[in-house]
Amino acid sequence: MARSFDNFFEKEMKEELLRQKKLQAAKLREVKIGTPKEIKTFLDLYVIGQEDAKKTLSVAVYNHYKRLNHNLGLGTGNSAISGSVSNDDTPDDVELDKSNILLAGETGTGKTLLARTLARMLNVPFAIADATVLTEAGYVGEDVENVLVKLLQAADYDVEMAERGIVFIDEIDKIARKSDNPSITRDVSGEGVQQALLKLLEGAAVNVPPKGGRKHPEQPFVSVNTKNILFIAGGAFDGIDRHIASRLNTHTIGFKSRRENRIDEKNLVRYISPQDVKKFGLIPEIVGRFPVISYLLPLEKTDLLRILTEPRNALVKQYKKLFELDGITLNIKNEALEFIVDKAMEYRTGARGLRSIMEKIMREMMFEIPSSKRSIDKKVVNLTVDYIKKQLKDTDLELFVE
Ligand code: ADP
Repeated sequence: MARSFDNFFEKEMKEELLRQKKLQAAKLREVKIGTPKEIKTFLDLYVIGQEDAKKTLSVAVYNHYKRLNHNLGLGTGNSAISGSVSNDDTPDDVELDKSNILLAGETGTGKTLLARTLARMLNVPFAIADATVLTEAGYVGEDVENVLVKLLQAADYDVEMAERGIVFIDEIDKIARKSDNPSITRDVSGEGVQQALLKLLEGAAVNVPPKGGRKHPEQPFVSVNTKNILFIAGGAFDGIDRHIASRLNTHTIGFKSRRENRIDEKNLVRYISPQDVKKFGLIPEIVGRFPVISYLLPLEKTDLLRILTEPRNALVKQYKKLFELDGITLNIKNEALEFIVDKAMEYRTGARGLRSIMEKIMREMMFEIPSSKRSIDKKVVNLTVDYIKKQLKDTDLELFVE
């Protein structure tokens, strides 16, 4: 009797240990998320302005990983809200929808940067896919599955890790149907790619050739489930203003009464809605898979000035650091910064142009200083407007700015 009791006890202990171990492993796999406010504070360190997009993303990402962490079987069952986030009135079988995010905004305003910064904060695999190179299976171009190949690579081929990663789909607006009336002008290629993309967005097990390339009968597939992958899509949506304006105008009463004081007519993208995106040419099924839509505003001169100096990895900070490592202090006058920003504004390349311009300006200095640092007075170098003008004089900047 005592013997069988011991056996029973031992078995129980073993099972308990195993359960604890599993729980521990699951916890390690859990994506650590802060509160939406903490997420936003992190984004603030790297992304200037774009307050609306940052807030919207913070909430969406918080909800996404909350849903995912609870899906892992840490607490109670599948997709259930449980534990500390439970609401006593919420039945345990509530399914939480995924919050894929669509970001609309001119090029170079920070869409990719936002997605990348989120992935860095969450420490999850991150991949960027360009929608314009995707094609329907069987056509020349990349199969949609290749998006997942990149994610797998970023996850070091750990499928479970990849399955909770973030994919940024760039230029989603470029695969829009060219007309909002499908029966008149059918832009087959665009719509075909949208259909193919839908497969990924819908949350399905997708067979991925792990080395990429074309599907090949001899290449073994890895099955990747996209159910918990967060998709963030970005696009400039050039011309969507027209659809937004006409929608706002049809709500005549609302629009007119608000028009004088509140509508920001210069930045109609603020009011972007799923309806506008459909009009623009994304198929309703795709739009439906992006329940969260936000926008990025064009960067003003003051934003560009801040981008040069404020973020953790701001260009000015980087150059100063490089000089500091050579024992030299680099001083950049405010007028000099303004001059650089004015040049970037001239070329309308958003923040992207800043880097090319800085590279041009700094090249001579970066070349000369390491070999002449002993002879430099007081170990201080000043970057002035005159010096910048001289550096840019013989440079056809237009050829260098992206
Ligand atoms: P998009 O995806 O909107 O075309 P990116 O996010 O790729 O633009 O921006 C290009 C680069 O410009 C970024 O890597 C970053 O250095 C800078 N940048 C753009 N927008 C911002 C911003 N709002 N805050 C800080 N840096 C920015």
